[in-house]
Amino acid sequence: MKISHSPYLLYPRNSLNAVSVGEAREGTLLKVEWEGGLVGYADLHPWPELGDLPLVRQISDLRSGYSSDLVKQSLWMARRDALLRHKVQHIFSGGEPVKNNWIVTNIQNFDIGSLQKIKDLGFTTLKVKAGRSVAAEIAALEKIAEAGLGIRLDFNASGSWDKFRNYLMQIPAKVLSRIEYVEDPFPFDPSLWNEARRLVPIALDNQYSQVPWASLQEAPCDVLVLKPAKTDVSEALAYCEKWHLKMTVTSYMDHPVGVLHALGVAMELKKKHPNLILDAGCLTHHLYEEDVFSSAITVQGAYILQTPGAGVGFDHLLETLPWQPLSQQ
Ligand code: MG
Repeated sequence: MKISHSPYLLYPRNSLNAVSVGEAREGTLLKVEWEGGLVGYADLHPWPELGDLPLVRQISDLRSGYSSDLVKQSLWMARRDALLRHKVQHIFSGGEPVKNNWIVTNIQNFDIGSLQKIKDLGFTTLKVKAGRSVAAEIAALEKIAEAGLGIRLDFNASGSWDKFRNYLMQIPAKVLSRIEYVEDPFPFDPSLWNEARRLVPIALDNQYSQVPWASLQEAPCDVLVLKPAKTDVSEALAYCEKWHLKMTVTSYMDHPVGVLHALGVAMELKKKHPNLILDAGCLTHHLYEEDVFSSAITVQGAYILQTPGAGVGFDHLLETLPWQPLSQQ
């Protein structure tokens, strides 16, 4: 196996969540070549703010033969891409279309007047990154509920049980009933999360590795948010089946190559497990300034359409990138 990489920067249009500021984000694309001519591509986009090792460390570890969870998933996706390219099949071709939620990374910059337009485009759910400005968020949630849209809130485990309970108590009942789920309301704690589940459905995302899956007595949440960029897909699927959880597949707010990979996983799972898979959260490339990759993606309402080419597509763009062999500093 020969690995090359091609570093990139993504420029956020706004601050992306409660723990990041609007600085350029670095990642790298991986090109993996296997014997017999198989070539596949994947993204590697760590979030050190959320506990990932920084990119430079991921790369130096990979060079010395150690793979983080992120790298393992990237290699898994590169292999998927390679097999599809070999068969000249697109990553979407074996799946069922999956709608995406509309994502609001910062409610302060969100134009409430655009709600009707979002609804007209066919979106049914808005995901709001929450926990930064309570009053403004709750006022916006009321408008979102009035527009008849579903709500997903994400605290990125930045709060506490008390803070979260107070937050919920300020939300009118008619708005509360529009909340599909709340993601990572505060750091995982089996009994406090179960308390929280009595108030609103709870989704598990970045607290996944904090859950003692082997010794659980009851379901830790209602929904599992799967980021194929970080988490083993078949393991997460087995947990969903065991604990009767629904699943939302999301991108890692990463490069368009990562976005296509994540949605490809969502679509394949949707075909095999139609009742388990909820709307996805893969429509994230527009959170960054446009580049040659994101401008190659066509969006139709809440759906991302098939990119030209095989695997994740972007064939010509990927072939012409400057690739650096991993063994070379
Ligand atoms: Mg999340």
